[in-house]
Amino acid sequence: MFLAFLAPVSAQTDSTAVRYAATITQADLRMLLDTLASDAYEGRETGMKGGKMAAKYITDRFRSYGIPPVPDARTRGMMADGYRQQFPLVLTKAGGLALKVDGKEQLFMRDQFYFTEKLKQHLKASEVMLLTPVTAGGTRLGGGSKVVMLLDPGKPEASLIADLRPLSEMLAGTGTEVLLLVNDSAESMMRRYGRLIERSEMRLGQPVKKAAKAGVQVVVITPELARIILDQGRLSMKKAMKMAAKKRVVVKVPIEFTYKSLDEQLSAENVLGYVEGSDKKGELVVVTAHYDHLGVIDGEVYNGADDDGSGTVAVLEMAQAFAKAKADGHGPRRSMLFMAVSGEEKGLLGSEWYTDNPVFPLDSTIANLNIDMIGRVDTVHGDSSSYVYVIGSKRISNELGGIIEAQNATHTQLDLDYTFDADSDPNRFYYRSDHYNFAKHGVPVAFFFNGVHADYHGPYDEVDKIRFDLLRQRALLVFHTAWELANRDARPAVDDPPE
Ligand SMILES: [Zn+2]
Repeated sequence: MFLAFLAPVSAQTDSTAVRYAATITQADLRMLLDTLASDAYEGRETGMKGGKMAAKYITDRFRSYGIPPVPDARTRGMMADGYRQQFPLVLTKAGGLALKVDGKEQLFMRDQFYFTEKLKQHLKASEVMLLTPVTAGGTRLGGGSKVVMLLDPGKPEASLIADLRPLSEMLAGTGTEVLLLVNDSAESMMRRYGRLIERSEMRLGQPVKKAAKAGVQVVVITPELARIILDQGRLSMKKAMKMAAKKRVVVKVPIEFTYKSLDEQLSAENVLGYVEGSDKKGELVVVTAHYDHLGVIDGEVYNGADDDGSGTVAVLEMAQAFAKAKADGHGPRRSMLFMAVSGEEKGLLGSEWYTDNPVFPLDSTIANLNIDMIGRVDTVHGDSSSYVYVIGSKRISNELGGIIEAQNATHTQLDLDYTFDADSDPNRFYYRSDHYNFAKHGVPVAFFFNGVHADYHGPYDEVDKIRFDLLRQRALLVFHTAWELANRDARPAVDDPPE
């Protein structure tokens, strides 16, 4: 009796889900990916033209599916169109800190270099205090001078780099603002690491809840530049090292730092397709994939068909299926947010911005299902294998992990591979895609992934290598999980809130 009573209800829900799952087709996935992963989109780099084009394309798709704009978009921190959440970016470029000794310019990447710019103001000093490895031990720092020079020219490169941070931390609070490190291999380091040192880096523009960390500016200088400074005190390197090992030695020399920012202000957008729920619409299931990729490098377009064009088109197809279901009177009980995020390749920036500035409250966000690469097979699994790696699905809510397994058993029969879910996994994939920003706020997450392959982050991650049969099957697993999460009575229990 009991079963007879239950069976028709679940069969009904289930057959409805299956009906809308059928709208997710290989042909549609291919059509969408053919566009997004084409050269015209220039590798969809965050903040760049191709990235903006992709954001517009995704917005247009959501609109075409009949998904209305997010209500009250402006008051929720979104753009007026109701689809895009813009976030500010800074493209930082080193080299903005100029150095003059005794009135003479000492050039970045010729006479001196540094890895991070901490001194973001002008600084004038009339003396340089000398330190040696002995005095730098911390016992006889003395302090009081704004500029300090550490005389340790023979220090091996590796330990020089390893000591940068501890040294600057040791000097913090002593009144010292700049630490000059003399090193014999300064020039060869500039030659070898030039690209890395001068590389632009992208960061969030106004990191919420994160104060800018000031500290001691470390500048590596050539022995020639050190000599110019020491000459002012009529000291040789050898003599200076001997003296400074015993007592506080100060060289009178006019030294000046001028800061002029080379940073560029940019912006990028997360694109949101919101399908409002019915009786539980205050609660939300978020399905994410990052639409950004690496852009154009050395003239080659990095199309990122798998990374993460595959996840992006899966999210679009799912959004369409839920929107269609709703239009037919089968809308979800909870609200669904289909979000294509940007800035992932630059350090999960878009999802960090969203979770720090959530458009919908995180405490009523019951789960985040994140897709990052589901269109290929990796080197571990053969071509005949139907698998997907599932990561993090039981870490915050064991129940969520169980729901995914149940949906898979009923609908998709994929081999669920938990290899990368192990805490001991050296790849640390759990921390490397957008779900992690939800997880760190205590939202139950699951990350769906095909593993890496030879074309990962390479220029040949192209549409013609995508296995659309597998892409669809994996998307269906996420779809059925999302459908179940949106419609079941209770949200998945959180059993392990993060510290
Ligand atoms: Zn990715």
